[in-house]
Amino acid sequence: MIVIQGKGVSKGVANGPIYFFQRPSATITDAPAADLEVEKQRIAAAQEKSAAQLNALADKARAEAGDETAILFETHAMFVEDDDYVECMMTALEERHCTAEKAVQLAGEEFSAMLAAMDDPYMQARAADIKDVTRRILNNLTGIAEGGIDSEVPVILAADDLAPSETLQLDKSKILGFITQGGSGNSHTAILARTMGIPAICGLGEALKAEYGGRQVYIDGETGQVAIEPDEITLASFQSKQEEQQKMKELMETMKGQKDVTLDGREMMVYCNIGSPEDISAVLSNDGQGIGLFRSEFLYLASSDYPTEEEQFQAYKNVAAAMGGKRVVIRTLDIGADKQVDYFQMHKEENPALGVRAIRICLNRPEVFRTQLRALYRASAYGKVAIMFPMITSVWEVKECKRACQKVMAELDKEGVPYRQDTEIGIMIETPASVLVAEELAKEVDFFSVGTNDLTQYTLACDRQANDLGKFFDPHHPAVLRALKMATDAAHKAGIWIGICGELGADLELLETFLAIGIDELSVSPTSVLPLRAEIRKSIAKTCTLEKLEC
Ligand code: PEP
Ligand code: MG
Repeated sequence: MIVIQGKGVSKGVANGPIYFFQRPSATITDAPAADLEVEKQRIAAAQEKSAAQLNALADKARAEAGDETAILFETHAMFVEDDDYVECMMTALEERHCTAEKAVQLAGEEFSAMLAAMDDPYMQARAADIKDVTRRILNNLTGIAEGGIDSEVPVILAADDLAPSETLQLDKSKILGFITQGGSGNSHTAILARTMGIPAICGLGEALKAEYGGRQVYIDGETGQVAIEPDEITLASFQSKQEEQQKMKELMETMKGQKDVTLDGREMMVYCNIGSPEDISAVLSNDGQGIGLFRSEFLYLASSDYPTEEEQFQAYKNVAAAMGGKRVVIRTLDIGADKQVDYFQMHKEENPALGVRAIRICLNRPEVFRTQLRALYRASAYGKVAIMFPMITSVWEVKECKRACQKVMAELDKEGVPYRQDTEIGIMIETPASVLVAEELAKEVDFFSVGTNDLTQYTLACDRQANDLGKFFDPHHPAVLRALKMATDAAHKAGIWIGICGELGADLELLETFLAIGIDELSVSPTSVLPLRAEIRKSIAKTCTLEKLEC
């Protein structure tokens, strides 16, 4: 048995074979092809393989998920052989005398751009399909396993580290757990693992060796323990924890349908954090009462080009409609720092966490902002959408955001496109500056949501990505909790609600402090909803104290 110790960042016990993540390393160059005939045959073979994969997926979908999903895969299989698309590839090949990979890449770009530029929203939405099909053909050309995992059975995925965009593109049905050499509990990859309810351990360092690939492992996402080929005693202890986990799950089932209310009648809104429309099923199965944070940037991260207004509209609309009138807070684009998107072509920064990120990018690039706001307002007609702006530091930023909203609403009015005029507008409290001017900010908006991941980082001057700051990175620090109290007092003075959507919201040790501070909403990963509800229902709000705010 080999035992290695890391930092548990997403709870749960899992076991399976270790599989090392295959990073797509093929950079597609413009180098000339040696023989065009060979390249043509390679394209034909990759097309054939892609079509076969898609037809197999369609059959599986038909059996498991119904006709609608099956038709989607069948349509993609047809796109693989679409005459115009294939002609685009052949033209690129002959005109540029390039490799099959380059020709497919160029055809995908050209064809999807052409569709995106069409007036018909249906055709615009097909641009995303072409991008998806192109990615599949390219993967087959370069021998990269779809979803990064070439395994028949589900695995414990090992990697040096995983970028949020890589995590998003993984085939989740194949993943039992994550183990990584680097990473930190506040990184977006850890946040995604929690959202997906998959156990994860990071910071294993050099102790996680490539030679362990294929060996059976047990991982405990709470303690951070990784046991490779465990001996009998260790195995028994992991298995009994797994049984406990199962019992807890069953116990939590009894919380479904119950109210999020303390014993003395104080209500708390318990919402969920999501990264994509696919996470909705987890929200519904865990009985989340709304969405407190939809990280819209994950749509951008999962895409190889700017998502169009239509693509975004469909995603937001699906979430709003699926929540059936419950509040859905969608945060506008929050990239930068660890969330890098190549096609934005951002300048390299020395300190990206302090650089041009989040709302700063949107205010600097009004067209990108406008596209997203149009999609959000259009989606507002299908549910109870609220719009939230990240990384606010100043009142003028909020005023500028609101002006951009007004402009978009005026455009939609002119076009006769339906939207909800009373769509709530809120901001994230993630910087000490926003806490210090919270009274003025509160007069401008309908709600606050505290991003404690960034608020902790900026208040304590601790990089949230670093995994070696140890006790210096302390989200329970009285400075962070006092900042929460200041923002709450300012919100309530202005008569608006305030929530927490950072990871701290799910910290049961702080629930009483949040109740004492007066927090109105907690937005957590879907799997944290029921344990949080159980704890709320045991609490007595009026006896909660602010003692944790003392030094
Ligand atoms: C936060 O900073 O707490 C937050 C919710 O936003 P993100 O983690 O996406 O930066
Ligand atoms: Mg943040």
